Amino acid sequence: MLTIENLVVSYGHIQALNGISLDVPHGKIISIIGSNGAGKTTLLNTICAIVKPQSGTIKFEGCELGRVAQKIVKQGLVHVPEGRKVFAGLSVKENLLAGGYILKDSQHVARNVEKMFDMYPILRERQHQQAGTLSGGEQQMLAICRGLMSEPKMILLDEPSLGLAPLVVKGVFELIAQIRDQGITVMLVEQNAKKALALCDYAYVLENGKITMQGPGKQLLCDPAIMKAYLGEK
Ligand code: ATP
Repeated sequence: MLTIENLVVSYGHIQALNGISLDVPHGKIISIIGSNGAGKTTLLNTICAIVKPQSGTIKFEGCELGRVAQKIVKQGLVHVPEGRKVFAGLSVKENLLAGGYILKDSQHVARNVEKMFDMYPILRERQHQQAGTLSGGEQQMLAICRGLMSEPKMILLDEPSLGLAPLVVKGVFELIAQIRDQGITVMLVEQNAKKALALCDYAYVLENGKITMQGPGKQLLCDPAIMKAYLGEK
């Protein structure tokens, strides 16, 4: 569904991605794990046209992916950035409505808001509350649901579990599984390697802008090098 070939990205003289190639098949969860500064956020930001690559190709469903954020959303690809960037001064419902901006029909948008409320009922209870007053976990759920409002074919999630309590993290990962079960392809960037590998279908390990390992998530979970470097095990 998403195919990346030889992607090179630099910030001045810092080379953040050094020839990345990967493939994300339809309907799967693909995880990118790696330590701080490995290039994970740069990869997602390049896919969704926030960062311009030096070279390489990004194809979505066989076509070159647009280089304007709005066009990319229309192609069916949505990005939920790190740090749960909800519109803090808008209500929960207004945030969801904003996520549905590419849909023309207001009844269609209203139906999708109801779907999000059904998926995560706290959003219904809090629909008139300012989004900035929600807890961190609720804001993360809202950010993901806002992304789903435009009915994407694929969603890019950047560190959705960052800074959340373990019980909340469990809820976020359950939501990600639910998204895949709805047929939406997921690309998940995570520092919580254990949970990401346990959930995903396939994973890539990024180190210093290069893919150093790849394989089915559950296989990498048992790999001694991964256990030592990313799972805190000897
Ligand atoms: P983290 O988990 O800490 O967010 P990451 O794996 O997402 O790390 P990136 O944020 O993509 O890594 O950073 C990759 C490299 O690019 C790092 O060396 C970082 O310092 C550098 N970098 C990232 N953004 C910029 C920028 N806007 N200007 C200059 N250098 C940058």
